[in-house]
Amino acid sequence: MKYIDLTQSFGPETPVSFPTLPVKFKTVSASPQVTEIVFGTHSGTHLDAPAHFFPEGKKLSNLGIESFMGRGVLVDVRGKGNVGKEILEGVEIKAGDAVLLFTGWQAKYGSKEYFDDYPVVSEELAKEFVRLKIKILGIDSSGPDKEPFSIHKVLLEKEILILENLCNLEGLTKVKDFEIIALPLKLETDGAPARVVAKIYE
Ligand SMILES: [Zn+2]
Repeated sequence: MKYIDLTQSFGPETPVSFPTLPVKFKTVSASPQVTEIVFGTHSGTHLDAPAHFFPEGKKLSNLGIESFMGRGVLVDVRGKGNVGKEILEGVEIKAGDAVLLFTGWQAKYGSKEYFDDYPVVSEELAKEFVRLKIKILGIDSSGPDKEPFSIHKVLLEKEILILENLCNLEGLTKVKDFEIIALPLKLETDGAPARVVAKIYE
């Protein structure tokens, strides 16, 4: 058994898409050390819950623990600006899978460019994920779409959770059999940073 950590380290330097909401760490007690943290729920490697776009949708605390785990499927989409349905050719996806789109965009993490011109998922592909009943869609960029966030809505409406700002997907390109475990804190919110791990069986 082997594990790969797919999580970016989270701290005051974490790049954020809303510049008005930087991650702040403040030591409020030196000994014992206690840190006060201020952050947006969609900072760093994180998971989106349905409530992110649907006020009546589930928050992280309302989702069953099984929502955060599934058989992993990596799809290599490097070099594509528009990620369409054709990427699924020859890829076997089952209900309950956690599908990861490997865009390679992680290389730009920390640069301003990271939040511009990132690859986007087509609505046709998002609807195919709904039809296939996947559980999680993960990506190594700040997200699968841009305003008006139609891909987020198509997926979250069906309780397909979205994992953003993943890293180290390169390590999975030659792996056949793995599971994704993406555990956010049990916050009563629309999303939260998560520790995301690939558990490799081989
Ligand atoms: Zn998010």
